[in-house]
Amino acid sequence: MKNNVKEANVVMARCASTSKSFGIRMERRTDDVWYCTWAFPLSEKSASNEGYTNTVISGRMEFDDEYPGCPHCNSTGWVKCWSCGKLTCWSSKDKSFSCKWCGVSGEVESADEFELNAGGY
Ligand SMILES: [Zn+2]
Ligand SMILES: [Zn+2]
Repeated sequence: MKNNVKEANVVMARCASTSKSFGIRMERRTDDVWYCTWAFPLSEKSASNEGYTNTVISGRMEFDDEYPGCPHCNSTGWVKCWSCGKLTCWSSKDKSFSCKWCGVSGEVESADEFELNAGGY
């Protein structure tokens, strides 16, 4: 682990194309900036066993240059649902999204700050 990492967490997401779940590893490098560094297939069952849904992280979210994108379809971004607050993978050429957790759809709006449900890591 690099020296400048203060804290790391894993946030659950679902793939917009395949509906499969995955985990996004986020590192806090400065006080309120989190970097998405890694994404990997993760079942919801093992996520709840690991306690991946117990913590709230907040601040600015950035993507590390090494972030590999969704492990199921390679989309390099994600959107947070305005209704249920969960993440669905997203490709930046799409103007709208539909949430793979609760089924709502809507326009994508950019935001600088987020609050996400994550787990300890
Ligand atoms: Zn995907
Ligand atoms: Zn939703």
